[in-house]
Amino acid sequence: MPKRPSRRDLIAAAGVTAALATTAKAQPKAKETAMPASDHVGFAIVGLGKLSLTQLIPALKKTKSAKLVAVVSGHPEKARKVAAENGLPADAVYGYDDYDRIAKDPRIQVVYIVLPNALHAEHTIKAFKAGKHVLCEKPMATTIADAEAMIAAAKAAQRQLMIAYRCHYEPMNLDVMRRLRSQSLGKVRQINTTMGRQADPSDPSDAWRLDLKLSGNGALGDMGVYGVSAARYLLNEEPIAVQAWAQTDRSDPRFKETEDLINWQFRFLSGVIANGSTSFNYAATMAFEAICEQGRLVADPAAFYGGNRLTVVEGGQAQPPVPAPAGDQFAREMDWMADVVRGKAPMVSPGEEGLQDMRLMEAILESAAKDGATVKTDWGYRRAVDPAKVVDAKA
Ligand code: NAD
Repeated sequence: MPKRPSRRDLIAAAGVTAALATTAKAQPKAKETAMPASDHVGFAIVGLGKLSLTQLIPALKKTKSAKLVAVVSGHPEKARKVAAENGLPADAVYGYDDYDRIAKDPRIQVVYIVLPNALHAEHTIKAFKAGKHVLCEKPMATTIADAEAMIAAAKAAQRQLMIAYRCHYEPMNLDVMRRLRSQSLGKVRQINTTMGRQADPSDPSDAWRLDLKLSGNGALGDMGVYGVSAARYLLNEEPIAVQAWAQTDRSDPRFKETEDLINWQFRFLSGVIANGSTSFNYAATMAFEAICEQGRLVADPAAFYGGNRLTVVEGGQAQPPVPAPAGDQFAREMDWMADVVRGKAPMVSPGEEGLQDMRLMEAILESAAKDGATVKTDWGYRRAVDPAKVVDAKA
């Protein structure tokens, strides 16, 4: 294996100045914001649900450039408890009713939106009005109009909008991107992505995901979006057409409003075909496979919080699976956001990336509603910055 380049090498090789300039074209350069006392970038977490409590707040203890400075929640008691546990003062606790007060809080530079999908747009736009940068969870929103309004609000405020696509910053995913770019197994011919799990309607965290209004599109936006996004970042190319089919048992109380099993096929100008699948009624799976002329790269799991593994199959022989480098994916992603805000890293997953996935998910649902009719998707979107060129592969 060739020695992995350091982040410094990669950024230099990609020409970070050029990358920053490209990003600046897509999003206006952020205005300078007052730095907190330490040189860490201050993050406010909005929404204290499962992801925030079990992953993000713990990850903020491992970050190099980001730190937790405030929490926003509709449950004052829970918020006060979380704040106390994390050494935050009482005035670092906000409710949704006094959220606008963050404008006057110089400790907060980045607002991280970790709410049900339908609430992303409202809280993102409010944060921009308060002069903050925003890191927003996936899927970006529940409608294309909301996603566009979020991008417009970032531009108007001259602030950064990053979508929390942790796989863009994860070493094993980056390794696969680089292997495919280098054609080490020949040209890639086909990508397969399988992203789903069992949804549990008795868990409040899943109840809103099965609700069409709050989730936008059920399993597709929750799990399938990883496959939509992966096909695009693995190939560094955009689909020109999609066909999709859905299989939903409406007698299953979970699927009164949203689709269950969806399979889609993206076609790319290069001739590559990407098959994707998602479901809220199959065993937890987050896997992808890239089939190349001379071998296969199988990442299974590819996008769990930990325990991801890559198997290289060459000449019909599977090499022993290689575990993904250790490290906290959420800490890496938040550190990247902090570096973007400080002008030390290019924006890799901007609002435009989230919007492209939203458009593709809408095209998938449109095709599925027409029993697999072809929907054209070549809208001319091109990724501004290839993660494989700028994001370090080291944990
Ligand atoms: P969750 O249900 O556990 O937490 C959501 C929080 O929002 C809760 O604290 C809840 O009280 C609050 N909330 C405020 N208004 C609400 C309303 N009207 N209805 C329901 N809850 C409301 O969800 P989660 O798993 O933490 O997911 C939050 C976001 O993070 C989602 O957008 C999800 O897609 C995303 N997510 C991303 C990843 C990832 O790996 N990047 C993983 C999990 C979740």
